[in-house]
Amino acid sequence: MDIDVVVIGAGQAGLSSAWFLRDRGVAPGDGFVVLDGNDGPGGAWRHRWDSLRLGTVHRIHPLPGMPLPDADPDRPAREVVAGYYGAYERAFDLPVRRPVPVRAVRPRDDGRLAVETPAGTWVARGLINATGTWTRPFWPSYPGQASFRGRQLHTADYRSRGEFRGRHVVVVGGGASGVQLLAEISEITTTTWVTRREPVWHDGPFDEDAGRAAVARVEQRVRAGLRPESVVSVTGLGLTPAVAAARDRGALVRLPMFDRITPAGVAWDDGRSVRADVILWCTGFRAALDHLAPLHLREPSGGITMIGTRTARDPRIHLVGYGPSASTIGATRAARTAVHDLRHLLPLAPARAAPPPGGRTGPMNSEEALAMEGAGALGEVPRDRAPTG
Ligand SMILES: Cc1cc2nc3c(=O)[nH]c(=O)nc-3n(C[C@H](O)[C@H](O)[C@H](O)COP(=O)(O)OP(=O)(O)OC[C@H]3O[C@@H](n4cnc5c(N)ncnc54)[C@H](O)[C@@H]3O)c2cc1C
Repeated sequence: MDIDVVVIGAGQAGLSSAWFLRDRGVAPGDGFVVLDGNDGPGGAWRHRWDSLRLGTVHRIHPLPGMPLPDADPDRPAREVVAGYYGAYERAFDLPVRRPVPVRAVRPRDDGRLAVETPAGTWVARGLINATGTWTRPFWPSYPGQASFRGRQLHTADYRSRGEFRGRHVVVVGGGASGVQLLAEISEITTTTWVTRREPVWHDGPFDEDAGRAAVARVEQRVRAGLRPESVVSVTGLGLTPAVAAARDRGALVRLPMFDRITPAGVAWDDGRSVRADVILWCTGFRAALDHLAPLHLREPSGGITMIGTRTARDPRIHLVGYGPSASTIGATRAARTAVHDLRHLLPLAPARAAPPPGGRTGPMNSEEALAMEGAGALGEVPRDRAPTG
């Protein structure tokens, strides 16, 4: 299957990229396709736990060209976002193929890229990778981990606190997800909280300047070829009402990281130990980029040097939703940059059909869509991402 551009992933980053490709005249289907490993719409949001409500997430930025629907803030964010993304794909008739997990992207001798999947190989001239982090949970390793008789799970496996009732839970990690889950689990059972570093709290709203500073710092790292760091280490943790209530209950007493895991719990070298039934690893995620390994994009340091959204080692490859653009607003903006750059690098096949009617009032053009984004939205940053304690 020969094509101009393959977009991998249909979360915020992939769908925004698809919208900009279409808006800039690249033909859906003949010119570009979106390959998504999920079995339905929603990207990572599809998998988030029920108690993550629309009203308690940091803020979900609309996709370009179609506003987020008004929805009850008490509804699970995953339901609302999956419904919205699904409606978006239909409204703009986006060529999303799923479930199509990309196994590998390889350079070909003719200068094109082979995108290998169980559903066949697409041969592309450019690639927008928008695979997020959710499929790559990060589990640190500690001595004795395999001997633990209780249950170990990661944020990515968390469904609801009900399953922990009556059990002692050690929550590992000082990121936003760790703090949120600690706050809700500690309402119904006993907990111990451990983090590598002393958590840093910020009071009041996270303003636009702080957002810009956080994004700029992550950007600086990826421009230098370093791995993007945990954004929460730059922004600090917000004291939401639920977290403040946990503090008032005494649940936010933090211990330093344990030194080893025992069959019955966790232990420190100074002789302390805590019995545990469950260890919940809220230790963040890494960029899901294993399928790009044959392209040799990484530096010896392990990071990928980025120039804007394109990789320094291969201008055909754009990473959207990576590093500084790993938030719903960042992903949308990066998508526009990636499509702009690819259109200048590659002569892309123009769309043959007129855009379909769709969305609330039909597709907006990019100026309208950007106007819809509004000013000041940079205040929303990916504080939930990669909480590594
Ligand atoms: C608990 C939590 C809460 C968050 N809350 C917010 C928030 O309130 N606001 C905010 O802006 N950000 C938030 N974030 C960050 C959030 O994850 C991103 O903003 C957003 O989901 C990222 O979108 P994305 O398109 O980059 O990735 P994803 O939504 O992860 O989409 C990636 C897609 O790629 C697919 N995929 C992955 N690998 C492959 C492959 N090899 N082949 C094919 N398909 C593949 C996946 O199946 C998925 O559909 C939160 C993160 C977490 C963990």
